[in-house]
Amino acid sequence: MRRFRFVKWVLRPDAEPDAPPITHRFRCIALDEGDDECGAHSAEFADPGRAQEWAFGHWRANPDHTGFVEVVERPWVMWMDGPA
Ligand SMILES: [Zn+2]
Repeated sequence: MRRFRFVKWVLRPDAEPDAPPITHRFRCIALDEGDDECGAHSAEFADPGRAQEWAFGHWRANPDHTGFVEVVERPWVMWMDGPA
């Protein structure tokens, strides 16, 4: 007879040393005359300040582009959390 051990799994942010880094990216959401989003975006940075620097640079080059969204990538992992 086969026996199965049931365990409880939880989904949690992955803070292990080998986890991928949390990254930050800014995207410009300014609309053009045709209501299309500009869509220009920064690279992904572990340092949110670097992504914000990109937004300042984009705004300086395009003074009417004042709206942005921040896209954050945070690693999560399924974690075995003891018996069910
Ligand atoms: Zn823009």
